[in-house]
Amino acid sequence: MSRAIVIIGPPGAGKGTQARRLSEKYGYPQISTGDILREMAQAETVLGQEIRTTLASGKLVSDEILAEVIRTRTSLPDCKNGYILDGFPRTINQAHQLEELAEEQKKEVLLVRAMVHEEVLFKRLTGRSTCPKCGEIYNVYFRPSKVEGVCDLDGETLKQRSDDNPEAVQRRFSEYRTATAPLIEYYRSNGRLIEIDGEGKVEEIFEKLCSLIEGLTSR
Ligand code: AMP
Repeated sequence: MSRAIVIIGPPGAGKGTQARRLSEKYGYPQISTGDILREMAQAETVLGQEIRTTLASGKLVSDEILAEVIRTRTSLPDCKNGYILDGFPRTINQAHQLEELAEEQKKEVLLVRAMVHEEVLFKRLTGRSTCPKCGEIYNVYFRPSKVEGVCDLDGETLKQRSDDNPEAVQRRFSEYRTATAPLIEYYRSNGRLIEIDGEGKVEEIFEKLCSLIEGLTSR
């Protein structure tokens, strides 16, 4: 059966980084709802304005908007054999939406939870920047680029996200604790939860993650 692999974790847990590697290894598309919403936020429409304001505050965008985004994106042909969800679901209501969708699409849902302490997360978020051209992720504390503010791979100027400032980060932690953390029990109770320590080296975490995914699907 083809798979929908969900990566869940607090902001800064490395969801995007691991999702990107899984996508390269398995050939499944990486679907980042944060990236899709940031793109939608650029439109000069009422919807674009609404999303822009919500993102900058660190609050969650409505379940109705997310339902539409996910259904549309996962219906594209590249999702036929499987896909990786980075940032969705984030509420119990969205988890129910995903269950329904996965049943229609005949996908087995696996949840990967990345665990990281909050002090580390705070540095990861407030220190991070991304290359707008190739998507490479840097961090001034843990993974600085060779020249400050410039991508090592293509020389592009690195960008910081509008919600990686301390106030928005606190709000995002609080949204995670109240809305998203309850999903962990939901998936644990039906045996589809993989938990990984998200604090080591990216490559080591990735290897562990792959062997856990393969172990779970070969049972
Ligand atoms: P991320 O890039 O995953 O950290 O997401 C950035 C922001 O996009 C979040 O703080 C939310 O405002 C919004 N967002 C992303 N995914 C979702 C989701 N599944 N439900 C609601 N809001 C979301």
